[in-house]
Amino acid sequence: MKNDLMASQFELLADLLEIQGANPFRIRAYRNAARTISSAAESLTDLVASGGDPGQFDGIGKDLARQITEIAQTGHLSSLEELRKQIPPGVLDMLRIPGVGPKKVSVFFNELGLKSLADLKAACESGRLSKLKGFGKKTEDSILQNIAAATEHSQRISIADARAAAEAIVEDLRSLPEVTQCEVAGSCRRRRETCGDLDVLAVCSDSAVPMNRLAVHPLVEAVLLRGETKQRVRLKTGVELDLRVVPEESFGAAMQYFTGSKEHNVAVRHRAKELGLKINEYGVFREETSIAGRTEEEVYAAIGLPWIPPELRENRKEFEWADAGAIPQLLTLTDIQGDLHMHTTASDGAASIEEMALAARDRGLKYIAITDHSKRVSMANGLDADRLRKHWQEIRRIRESIDGIEILCGIECDILEDATMDLPDDVLSEADWVIAVLHYGLRQPREQIMLRLMNAIRNPHVDIIGHCTGRMIGRREGADIQFTELLKAAADHQVMMEINAHPSRLDLNDIHAAAARDYGIPIVISTDSHSVNGFDVLEYGVDQARRAGLTKQDVANTRSLKDFKKLMKS
Ligand SMILES: [Zn+2]
Ligand SMILES: [Zn+2]
Repeated sequence: MKNDLMASQFELLADLLEIQGANPFRIRAYRNAARTISSAAESLTDLVASGGDPGQFDGIGKDLARQITEIAQTGHLSSLEELRKQIPPGVLDMLRIPGVGPKKVSVFFNELGLKSLADLKAACESGRLSKLKGFGKKTEDSILQNIAAATEHSQRISIADARAAAEAIVEDLRSLPEVTQCEVAGSCRRRRETCGDLDVLAVCSDSAVPMNRLAVHPLVEAVLLRGETKQRVRLKTGVELDLRVVPEESFGAAMQYFTGSKEHNVAVRHRAKELGLKINEYGVFREETSIAGRTEEEVYAAIGLPWIPPELRENRKEFEWADAGAIPQLLTLTDIQGDLHMHTTASDGAASIEEMALAARDRGLKYIAITDHSKRVSMANGLDADRLRKHWQEIRRIRESIDGIEILCGIECDILEDATMDLPDDVLSEADWVIAVLHYGLRQPREQIMLRLMNAIRNPHVDIIGHCTGRMIGRREGADIQFTELLKAAADHQVMMEINAHPSRLDLNDIHAAAARDYGIPIVISTDSHSVNGFDVLEYGVDQARRAGLTKQDVANTRSLKDFKKLMKS
């Protein structure tokens, strides 16, 4: 079982307990467990299978360890199944309504006896909800509006599509003279791999102005709802975008609130509470007095924290770092000096060696590696030893004729299904740079996948493992890999790890990239360009590295070629 799935079971358990009104400490313990599981680099299922004790993790006590062991071994969690019997399934559907959490659902279920979205809708329509303590007419209206969203399944889009749409709309709204501030918030601002919906915040004295403009934006298909300060639209891609117009003095608080993540904000609220403060999307308050809200910096400062980069706001290590005054200075796009994975017309690329080199130089890169496919990838016209040697000769000829950029003779060599390399060692030994990759047989059993990767790592000529899992986000699961074993071996054999920057790969993911860094493995962010425009994706790789908390120092291709070579094994 994947860690994410296991974590979601504990999260669900916590939700159910909260709906039942269980002890808050117990609920929090389960939520912490879910977080620990989802941010572990190593598979908990493997850990248990190899006799390890989940109790070794911070915050996992004896009882939780027993339950993790149970789910790892059987795929089931008996405490969860027990609870599920006590709460009708329709009650859980209510959790899908934006703005409705377990606490509210608990009230709906226990005080009004509501058991489904249909029950809830009827209760709102008859005004029963607004009569409850703590619920006003406003809450009732907003729940009614949001029930529709909860009943439709919305799709997730790649971070590239999310950024393209959100940034185009923000730019358009910023062009209005009345709009003084406008930014993207939400998971898009945190640069998650995929986004379910988009959030945009604006400051404008007349909220109708940006709303009217958004309604006619070419990317917008329909306006789904429009209130005083909030408008929801559906984009032509099917994704929904919320625009909120907020007061200037609340803009920072709203950015903090709507950027999330949910888990990060729970921790932030907790800290505020400990200081006797209240924090929400309008500001930070002592009693009724606002003490911060205009900027995010001031909001974080009010609760004793430095500003935290959005990419780190997942309640993983950011608070620990903040308390130690050690928030990492995250890598930036301009730190990157070289790109070590790209294709030319020799295999399945669209441009020549020369065109790729000149395009890379135009973008300010100082060095590149040309890494066409090896012969196993026959549909991409992969190279055998003869063609590869001729190709390298051509690269050497061109590198003499172009100034301002260095070109390495590389290869993206397949690790075959039988765990041998697609090209003989004597050929690989002539390369400046060898990327070893899995393209085929990704569904092989883990033992075979690991044998393949370990053989590649032990090969004296392999410099790096490219797009490690082979996943295609939303389309294809990656290979089944035992990451701690892999990373340990890579560290031992001085093999680097790639973050493939293509938005459909982003492989390593954020958690595994952070784990690789913890093993001291140099990480290389590569574009895997197949054309001169392919370099555009570099920023997504940098974003992924930032989510992993990586600094310039952690990423090998921020160095000059001379210093980069010092990290290579040969
Ligand atoms: Zn590849
Ligand atoms: Zn490639």
